[in-house]
Amino acid sequence: MRNALGLMVASVVTAAVIAAVWFWTSSPRVELAAPNTVTARPAEQLQAARPVPAREDVEVTAAIPDKPALPVKPPAAAQPKAACANPDALGVSRVVEIDTAGGPGFGFEHFKQLDFLTDKEVVLTFDDGPWPVNTPAVLKALAEECTKAVFFPIGKHATYHPEILRLVAAAGHTVGAHTWSHANLNSKKMTEQQAKDELEKGFSAVKLALGAAPSPFFRFPQLQHAPAAMAYLGSRNVAIFSCDLDSFDFRAKDAAQVVNTVMTKLDKLGKGIILMHDFQKHTAEALPTLLGRLKAGGYKVVLMKAKAPLQTLAEYDEALVKDMKLPVASTRPVGSVVQTVSE
Ligand SMILES: [Zn+2]
Repeated sequence: MRNALGLMVASVVTAAVIAAVWFWTSSPRVELAAPNTVTARPAEQLQAARPVPAREDVEVTAAIPDKPALPVKPPAAAQPKAACANPDALGVSRVVEIDTAGGPGFGFEHFKQLDFLTDKEVVLTFDDGPWPVNTPAVLKALAEECTKAVFFPIGKHATYHPEILRLVAAAGHTVGAHTWSHANLNSKKMTEQQAKDELEKGFSAVKLALGAAPSPFFRFPQLQHAPAAMAYLGSRNVAIFSCDLDSFDFRAKDAAQVVNTVMTKLDKLGKGIILMHDFQKHTAEALPTLLGRLKAGGYKVVLMKAKAPLQTLAEYDEALVKDMKLPVASTRPVGSVVQTVSE
């Protein structure tokens, strides 16, 4: 009797196990699992579906769509950034990826070949940082409007305030370079070797500060485009940035003048790459108002990103680290000078 009962119990258990295995391997499970595999796709499809303009150096790689293509919430990993807390934010209307091969030039003040912005599109750019107070204020204003910019830091400033430059990169902005010491590379006294040192040391300093390679984006100090340096940048596949619209914020007497200069020029041009300085106090103060005016005026922000980071030259990376270690009397902590980039 006991054996018979035991056999029955064993049979029921076996049947239950078989049923469970069948349930989990049959179609209902596959259907349950299906959304997990489907959810990863919308972002890819959105990117792949964007038309690629027939231009060599600029291609649209992503855009914030007006509506989601599918009523499926993408997984957290597929979302490129945190949701914007400000529902009326200026935001980023599209992101363009730049193929910097050969050193393309941008900004109609000097380079008119690559006309990739459409009417009412602007690119925000900031030079001469990172700098205490002003750069963080610029970052705060950009964050409040959930918008992004391109920064061209000075190498020396990057070594003074690497933690501020890291905040710039961490916020998702593009970081290029603007020479080591803001030297005029078009000066008659500047040799080709000195110009090369200014360029490479500037990029290596940004890399040292960030712990990661910068974008191969460069802006000449004072927009002084030295022909030999331009050829060199071309050979290094670094894009050269002039601007469409110079804010002349370093000359402005107050924040209001920065806003007025930019908006007056922009309303005339209709679009363009805007040159400002996160180094400048008036610019930092002007930015919340300026971003509000851009939004009210129907302008849209385009973020420029590089297709690949710059390969800095090891000799400059090493020389810089050596230089930075030399002043033993420096009050700067080692952590702000030497970054572990790999272990
Ligand atoms: Zn500058």
